[in-house]
Amino acid sequence: IDFARYRGRFAPTPSGPLHFGSLVAALGSYLDARAADGQWLVRIEDIDPPRCPEGAASTILRQLETFGLEWDEAIMWQHNRGDAYQQALDQLIQLGLAYPCSCSRKQWQAFDIYPGWCRDGVCDANKPLAWRLRSDRGESPIRWQDRLFGDQQFDPAELGDVVLKRKDALWAYQLAVVVDDAEQQITDVVRGLDLLDNTPWQRQLQSALQLPQPRYLHLPLIVTPEGQKLSKQNLAPALAEDEQEVRQQLFQALEALDQAPPQELASEPPATQLHWAVANWSLLRLSPTAHRLNPPSPPAG
Ligand code: GLU
Repeated sequence: IDFARYRGRFAPTPSGPLHFGSLVAALGSYLDARAADGQWLVRIEDIDPPRCPEGAASTILRQLETFGLEWDEAIMWQHNRGDAYQQALDQLIQLGLAYPCSCSRKQWQAFDIYPGWCRDGVCDANKPLAWRLRSDRGESPIRWQDRLFGDQQFDPAELGDVVLKRKDALWAYQLAVVVDDAEQQITDVVRGLDLLDNTPWQRQLQSALQLPQPRYLHLPLIVTPEGQKLSKQNLAPALAEDEQEVRQQLFQALEALDQAPPQELASEPPATQLHWAVANWSLLRLSPTAHRLNPPSPPAG
């Protein structure tokens, strides 16, 4: 992996349009890439069609364009990457690191994680089978440095045997993300803090498949004025389409990344704001504490 040639990515699941939290993640990864004179790629993680409404991916791409976040190279779509995921799974099976599993969550609900009953022979070969990764054959503990959150350490025994392919034959996020980050030669994964605890599985898979390990930067969460994680359920602010509102929202996203943009930038078009933000991008300014949104201002009049 050539860390001198920075390659970053934004990898949304098209389960709906981007909201303010996902804009901040996209912006953070974009700025980190551009400030390093690197490439910035977009990958649509549409491995789970039932969760991805028709048209959501094109909405996301249009939103990125509206906010001036221009990507390099062709977009990668996970729905047509099945062969590559199968190859990776075959390789893990050959190495004795993946096994079929018939157990249902209901059977092991008394445990925090799946206890590995099918490791040495599937419990019930007549049931639909998932595929899992053996967590007991790799490096322990799993360690790496997050560029913001510092030293990370996880015990594989507490992670359990992650699912690689589901019983309904859909590919699992952990396998797909690892195979595709390698295929796209990603040097730097920049994404929301909610994914930090997925990283140890991804590191396990990279080691098992002998793939290069990118650097990781997790971005602080954006929370509501009451301190709850932003989500569609608690009405994460939708992204603007109106030109003036787009400018303000982009400015707020720069503030959420603690970049202290000068106030006069707030009324400038995206290209001007991004130009400033790339030139002034500083990870040192970024505080790891969650960023609280301001309460919506009361209606005028
Ligand atoms: N597709 C994942 C999501 O939208 C993010 C994947 C990643 O950045 O690793 O939550």
